[in-house]
Amino acid sequence: MKVDLLIKNAKIIDGTSNPWYYGGVVIKGDKILEVFKDNALIKAKNYQALKIIDAQNKFLTPSFIDVHSHSDFVFFLDSNAQSKLRQGVTTEVIGNCGISGAPYNELSADQVKSFSYGYQPGWENVEEFAAALSEVEKTVNLTPLLGHGTLRSYVMGMENREATAAELEKMKEILARALKLGYRGMSTGLYFSPGNFAPQAELIALAEVVSSKNGVLTSHIRDEGVKSIGFIRAVKEIISIGEKSGVSLEISHLKAFGPDVWGRSKQVLDLIEKARTRGVEITADQYPYLATGGLMASDVLPNEFLSNKSNQKAMEELKDKKVQAELRDIVKLNIKRRGGAENQIIANYPADHSLEGMTLKQISDRQGLEPVDMLFNMLTEYLAGDWISRALSEDDVVNFMQYYALMISSDGVSLSNSGILGSGNPHPRNYGSYTEVLSKYVRDKKVLNLEEAVRKMTSLPAQKFNLKNRGLIAQNKVADLVIFDLDQIKSPTFSEPDIYPDGISAVIVNGKTAVLNGNYQQLRAGKLILS
Ligand SMILES: [Zn+2]
Repeated sequence: MKVDLLIKNAKIIDGTSNPWYYGGVVIKGDKILEVFKDNALIKAKNYQALKIIDAQNKFLTPSFIDVHSHSDFVFFLDSNAQSKLRQGVTTEVIGNCGISGAPYNELSADQVKSFSYGYQPGWENVEEFAAALSEVEKTVNLTPLLGHGTLRSYVMGMENREATAAELEKMKEILARALKLGYRGMSTGLYFSPGNFAPQAELIALAEVVSSKNGVLTSHIRDEGVKSIGFIRAVKEIISIGEKSGVSLEISHLKAFGPDVWGRSKQVLDLIEKARTRGVEITADQYPYLATGGLMASDVLPNEFLSNKSNQKAMEELKDKKVQAELRDIVKLNIKRRGGAENQIIANYPADHSLEGMTLKQISDRQGLEPVDMLFNMLTEYLAGDWISRALSEDDVVNFMQYYALMISSDGVSLSNSGILGSGNPHPRNYGSYTEVLSKYVRDKKVLNLEEAVRKMTSLPAQKFNLKNRGLIAQNKVADLVIFDLDQIKSPTFSEPDIYPDGISAVIVNGKTAVLNGNYQQLRAGKLILS
């Protein structure tokens, strides 16, 4: 029998967390036709493969599913964007943190464009966006969430008030259409405007729509530190939304942010576990770094200031020294809560690219300004820049990572280290979240065993996000696979963030070999997954 691909002499980790075993797989089309333990089977069944990969006793696992991605736009700009593919990711769940590519109109433009890298959307509704995503060539599979912040601003702008009955109906109608189309669910960004303007009743009403279609509600919770209601209350809030609506919940990029809440991981895991015991279907994800990445403006400016205005308007108001004087104390405090100016590294600042890679402290010292004043100057020039904040503790990161209902994510984007997506000083999570877990936390620190780490990257995310045919090595599953040499994995670092990791030797996307011998094969085999 003619088959497309044969992988032999591998140590198979199937994604269930069962221990590895020697074997191989036979692939026909985009499916795994057979999993075998003995090469003799190839002869016995007379399989003739168009292509054979000898894994040379490296690990063969399902490729990774990144449940927290922001790659909504990148493939429209560069269809070869490969920073996820090269770390072994072949499926990204996009539209997170309340921000999605559609619905798009003048009112939702600031939201939609948060991750657009300057791309001008040519669609309005969710159907048109899905059609565009389906058509564009891409290195990995994408599957979307509808962003609540985008949805709300599309319907009612950046208004800091309750939705009217008609507005809520409109939101429910668009959400139901997205779910019918095959969206995985809805994401919320309660930390950001306008997500933080939504009263609980609105969030529950929308969560009920998601729940009725067996979707997932993901949440960048209201506070991961002490900026507004506090970390613990924010976790309780999202659990209560899950409990009242019955929706399957996912806490996005779970972390204890800033020295004020370091050590709270045990208490938070206890809240989550107790909720699970009560029947709340709640899980979480995490990226494996001690530094976060985020928008400078939302991280330091109070929500009250940002409400009811466009980015343009906020920048104009910020130029007023009186406004700066009023905001000075709180902005100063928010910088301190993030670990101080020496721990804020500018990542992406189109108004002056030369600042990228420098800390806020270095920039302000050079100008002879206090960090708070330097930051005001920067925000008045360009509001939507982002930075990296060194603000997490290793103990909390490890506690969360070891929790059985936590999966790995990146909170990153498929980038390229050259071309239009190669600018700035990106967080290394874009290039190496998965290799960082494998090299640092599995191999070096032994915080997780390899099979458990692989489960958190494959079958757990597939089960959570209803990706029925993926995330496991088994007969008839889609052939999304990765081959890696654990000893050889080298992950990008903060000082060299935009290099592709070493040690990932092959990546198979929908049965097609997109990375071979560590090299990208110029193959865009990704699909839009809507079922
Ligand atoms: Zn987020």
